[in-house]
Amino acid sequence: KRDKADSHVWFSQAQADDDPDTLRLETDLREALSAGDQLFLRFQPQFRLSTASLIGFEALVRWQHPVRGELSPADFIDLAEDAGLMTALGDAVVNLACREFARLRTEVGLDLPVGVNISPRELVAERFVERIAGCLDQYGLPSSMLTLEITENVLIESPTIAAEALARLRRRGIRIAIDDFGTGYASLSYLNRFPVDVLKIDKQFVRDILLDRNDCAIVNAIIGMAHNLELEVVAEGVETAEQMSLLKSLGCDTLQGYLLGRPMLGSDIAAFLRTAERI
Ligand code: C2E
Ligand code: CA
Ligand code: CA
Ligand code: CA
Repeated sequence: KRDKADSHVWFSQAQADDDPDTLRLETDLREALSAGDQLFLRFQPQFRLSTASLIGFEALVRWQHPVRGELSPADFIDLAEDAGLMTALGDAVVNLACREFARLRTEVGLDLPVGVNISPRELVAERFVERIAGCLDQYGLPSSMLTLEITENVLIESPTIAAEALARLRRRGIRIAIDDFGTGYASLSYLNRFPVDVLKIDKQFVRDILLDRNDCAIVNAIIGMAHNLELEVVAEGVETAEQMSLLKSLGCDTLQGYLLGRPMLGSDIAAFLRTAERI
């Protein structure tokens, strides 16, 4: 069985590498990273349930491909990883997010954090913390306006490097969120060993929360234990009012999802702030 699984992995990777479309896209991504105006961010709002107020945004990368149109991370993140372009892509994303939020801060007085997704490879890369700090300095963005979203597996795979990076980020006042919580291997007690502020419950648990008693029990347990560890809990992928009220009754702190706001362009945030201060 094991051999079969391995050969399948080997086969699909070999196939992907030979695929002319993949090679072409890799060349295009290199170009996009050096030319600079094809990658952009969409920002999805997050709301606190108790006060019904907007508390921040998550930055989600997009690629305006000259031929294929707007591509989602699913179309190019793995490619960037395999091609060794992940730190370049990550730097571009951090740069775009800091620039946009510094602009919004000066132009409309926005004082809410932006969450940036950080791949495991970026977090453990050389001088990661210095590069983040350099970017904040460059745009004059306060560290309180940046949250980094990392996945739990990097804490297990590279605990020493990750712990050191997180401690240094925390000392600078940058908040850390654990993304996709529940889909990886970390337990809540393990998380407690790292300086973490926020826990994001993956949308796969939210999707069927009204239908599947197991999913509901998992979300309930995550919220209870997270609160005991004094972590703030965000539920992602909230699409219906019923999901929202169930999450509220379970004590979830904050929500993100299509129900409350689609990922939007930075240039639309000012108008959004005027209309949607409250849910
Ligand atoms: P994620 O960090 O879990 O982000 C949430 C994803 O759920 C986003 O997909 C978002 O558009 C989508 N979403 C938001 N609300 C809803 C909803 O109500 N229902 C459903 N079904 N989906 C919702 P997106 O933008 O396609 O990003 C997918 C993943 O790609 C992200 O998952 C994240 O892991 C990764 N990603 C996105 N941007 C970046 C980035 O800048 N850097 C890195 N390293 N990864 C990124
Ligand atoms: Ca995320
Ligand atoms: Ca997720
Ligand atoms: Ca994710």
